[in-house]
Amino acid sequence: MQEVIKKIFNDIKILNEGKVADYIPELAKVDPNKFAISVCKVNGEQFNIGDTNDYFCLQSCSKPLSYCIAHDILGRDELHKKVGYEPSGQAFNAFILNKSGLPHNPMINAGAIMVASQIGKGQEPSKRFNIIKSYYNKLAGETEKTGFDNSVFLSEQHHADRNISLAYYMRENGAFEDKISPNEITESLNLYFQQCSTTINCKMAAVIAATLANAGVCPLTSEQVVTTDAVKDCLTLMYGCGMYDYSGQFSFEVGLPAKSGVSGCILLVI
Ligand code: GLU
Repeated sequence: MQEVIKKIFNDIKILNEGKVADYIPELAKVDPNKFAISVCKVNGEQFNIGDTNDYFCLQSCSKPLSYCIAHDILGRDELHKKVGYEPSGQAFNAFILNKSGLPHNPMINAGAIMVASQIGKGQEPSKRFNIIKSYYNKLAGETEKTGFDNSVFLSEQHHADRNISLAYYMRENGAFEDKISPNEITESLNLYFQQCSTTINCKMAAVIAATLANAGVCPLTSEQVVTTDAVKDCLTLMYGCGMYDYSGQFSFEVGLPAKSGVSGCILLVI
């Protein structure tokens, strides 16, 4: 395996098209030359190459993780009364809801904001964040801890025009079911920004992917962190919607459940 990964690493490292995201200004400061690949197998065996110790924000790679948490809290049926499971075919932050007036799926922004709104509902913000942090750490095997980039959080919050609008668009269309107050919307948006601003390194990301590959059991700790049912639905959604409006092309060419994040990470589950 190591030789194959080394070859993939060397083949890809020389590609330098594309650019770092700048619609969240703090993300524009990230060094675009950083590159790493980490692999963790379901037996816990790990292989790392490149800048694998450097921390980066999870951004939308947090969406499948929070989806599993919400799935385990609410159950599939209750959760999917609030969010769909079809690809939208549109950009990740498009103003579009499905025929039932719900966000298309949990992997795009509107859907992920909806999912965040269901985690620790009614509890104070610190407790809600602690739920997410604790799950993320367990998914990543607890050897290294998640961090938090407050500058990115503040930057996201300050430039959140689109995400705030999406939340109010859902509210206008009755997607939240119960009458959510503006204050509750703000708290759920903040939780979403916080999960996106949570930091991990590439090695931890690989353990998270391995936990998903291992039906929710972390290969390093043997703990069942999230249920098999949640992981099964999560992987289906990652396969169909995880790469946004390139999901079809990605499934066609790569054919594996994946999730991208605007910080430059891809979580791939084999
Ligand atoms: N925090 C980003 C946003 O809400 C996440 C997008 C992404 O990583 O794809 O726009």
